[in-house]
Amino acid sequence: MSRSARSLAALLLCAVLVLASLATQARADVNVQYPATAGLGKPFMVRVTSTEPLTGVELIWQGRTTRLAVTVWNERYIALGMLGAQAGKVKAGDHAFRLRLIDGKRKSEHLLPVKLETVKYREDRLTLPDKMVNPPASEMKRIEEERKLTAEAIATMTERRDWKLPLVRPVPGIVTSEYGRRRILNGRAGNPHAGIDFRAASGTPVRAAAAGRVVLAGDFYFSGKSVYVDSGGGMITMYFHMSSLAVKTGDLVAAGQVVGASGSTGRSTGPHLHFGLALTRQLVDADLLFSSTSDKLLEKSVFTRIDPVWK
Ligand SMILES: [Zn+2]
Repeated sequence: MSRSARSLAALLLCAVLVLASLATQARADVNVQYPATAGLGKPFMVRVTSTEPLTGVELIWQGRTTRLAVTVWNERYIALGMLGAQAGKVKAGDHAFRLRLIDGKRKSEHLLPVKLETVKYREDRLTLPDKMVNPPASEMKRIEEERKLTAEAIATMTERRDWKLPLVRPVPGIVTSEYGRRRILNGRAGNPHAGIDFRAASGTPVRAAAAGRVVLAGDFYFSGKSVYVDSGGGMITMYFHMSSLAVKTGDLVAAGQVVGASGSTGRSTGPHLHFGLALTRQLVDADLLFSSTSDKLLEKSVFTRIDPVWK
């Protein structure tokens, strides 16, 4: 090979290397999958996939910050989170969540719009003993203390992710009162139903919908014998009105593990299981999650490519 041919070859090799590195850079990207619109009360999924190393991912939604667990799969950094807006608490319209990508001490923030749409929920007329609708003054101190405890339990935030879809149905019975039903209690409009009521004869084993840690277990004025399980990433599941408890605060539970037996304790008109799902303190409709996988939930999602601006 002549000298000029050799230098031409070297030049070509250089060009190839430069192009290859450019191509690598172009492939290094961050994608966010989430729905552009979501129904009020309906949970929705956010999946972040990055070829750039991430040590953390945070979602800031409705004033709450959720730190998501990051897993590495196939040289990609993946974080999966679930968000929602509580019916009767958040208004329909244009909202947004802030996505914070973290790599060591560097951060990159992005605002992602979500449109929340009104969902038509049914109405229920209920007649309850007056003392249950209007608790006696002597119970107010107890109710206030319990309100603080339960609010704290619902606000639990741990970075690990113990939940996976579909969730385990806590009892086999049919749904007798859906999420979002507006309740007219003794003629007065109450808040929309913040959970799902399942038919369950007294004594039916109640199973944890997802793995996690029991953050609260006790006997409360309104919800009776109850268990709150933290499954990480802001997800708390609740089991109310049970006749007995099989776990205590601090216990770790597996998905499907029995946490108690159904009953009619607290403010209840008959044996049933009230199941609640909180996502970053928003009580949402779990119904879809008993039959959907994460991929199915993401089907109607938009793919947004993000160019991190590290600061
Ligand atoms: Zn209920």
